[in-house]
Amino acid sequence: MDYDVTIIGAGPVGSTAAKVLADNGFNILILEEHSIIGSPQHCTGKISAEALRELDLEPVGILQEIRGATFYSPSLESFTIKSNTTQAYILDRRVFDTWLSERCVKAGASLITNARATRISISSFGVSVEFKCQDKYQTIRSRVIIAADGANSGVARQLGIYTQEQAGGKMGVQIQMKGIRDIKEDIVELYFGRIYAPGFFAWIVPLGSDEARVGLCVNIHSGKPAMNYLREFVSKHPVASCKLKGCFMGESSVHPIPTGGTLRRTVSDGVIIVGDAAGQVKSTTGGGLYYGMSCAKLAAKTLSKELSQSTEKLLRRESLAGYERSWKLKLGKEIAFSVKARSFLDSLSDNEVTYLFNALKKDDSLLSFISKEGNVDWQSRITSPVIGRLLKKGALKPNILYKFGRSFLGTAFKK
Ligand SMILES: Cc1cc2nc3c(=O)[nH]c(=O)nc-3n(C[C@H](O)[C@H](O)[C@H](O)COP(=O)(O)OP(=O)(O)OC[C@H]3O[C@@H](n4cnc5c(N)ncnc54)[C@H](O)[C@@H]3O)c2cc1C
Repeated sequence: MDYDVTIIGAGPVGSTAAKVLADNGFNILILEEHSIIGSPQHCTGKISAEALRELDLEPVGILQEIRGATFYSPSLESFTIKSNTTQAYILDRRVFDTWLSERCVKAGASLITNARATRISISSFGVSVEFKCQDKYQTIRSRVIIAADGANSGVARQLGIYTQEQAGGKMGVQIQMKGIRDIKEDIVELYFGRIYAPGFFAWIVPLGSDEARVGLCVNIHSGKPAMNYLREFVSKHPVASCKLKGCFMGESSVHPIPTGGTLRRTVSDGVIIVGDAAGQVKSTTGGGLYYGMSCAKLAAKTLSKELSQSTEKLLRRESLAGYERSWKLKLGKEIAFSVKARSFLDSLSDNEVTYLFNALKKDDSLLSFISKEGNVDWQSRITSPVIGRLLKKGALKPNILYKFGRSFLGTAFKK
């Protein structure tokens, strides 16, 4: 056997799992299709301060500290939620991902870049991974593999457990811009409305006083490529264009965001699927760093225990099921909540979004409650109190309530 575990993908999720397993003395190989770790950079890189603490990560690659957010409605009303302390960081994913992968190598893992896994095959001897490196196909064998190959996972496709519905059908696009006017260094700006970002929202995420990551995400069936929506947002949005028009545009990227929920199975014989590949993402915001890295730790914990078994036993799906149980226990309800919340948000018309904005905006005590108690990684915790307070004040229209019930209670909810 060449390795105990082969990990496909040296993103933050693959490297997190590799580090724990290498620290525990296992023989680990990571395959990464790109030549530079963390590149191309498609992510905004926002991670909560609490997540960094919980994951026990050093603050590496931090470009900006964030204290709050300004939300713009489709009809341009806005409100700001701000804390006195740093709530989140914006990471340079190249620096962050490289640091994570270097830690794995220092801990004893092997890393091959420019190596695209093309096929896996499972036999009673272990899992063979065929990969293409410098135009040559090679095959290595390990006792088990971790698929951390990101959105639209090739491994999940090969195993027949990837579905379009799970993928969620959203495409994210982003440009790094310089020379931006009238932004605050520690406040992200979020813009809602179907004209500019149907099915999600647009963002300006500062990287200093005049530089930002400007992006949006849209439904892939919105009629135009995501990049066209972004160009229109930059040049025509009544508020954002005043800040962005004519600014220098740097690196751009287009990348899917799996917002449709998790795969129905995240383990298979000899295979564990983690991170974006498994759909472990907040469907409301598209954020997957914290959930993915948390689940990677749980995957490595399960494997560290199960690798003491014979390969024959280890290869059985049931031996890996502890991983699925543990991530569902920690995040299953929260991810399911975020899928319902995304379906609710997607069902609202621009007028209804504006109505909700106004209801929130008028209530200073509710906004200060959200800024004090809100936690972007655990959004379900404040949704009930917020909806409860809006209901008590009679601030929710019947059609919004109906859509809320339909999204959260499903087909059991009849008009
Ligand atoms: C526009 C945009 C903005 C985002 N902003 C945020 C944000 O602010 N905060 C946040 O938390 N999340 C954000 N996300 C989501 C975040 O980027 C992902 O959740 C996170 O990168 C998932 O990590 P991962 O390791 O699972 O996958 P990835 O980071 O995608 O890594 C997968 C790795 O696998 C490699 N790979 C794929 N296939 C193969 C193969 N066959 N062989 C070998 N290697 C392979 C890839 O090259 C890649 O390096 C954003 C996403 C997008 C698209």
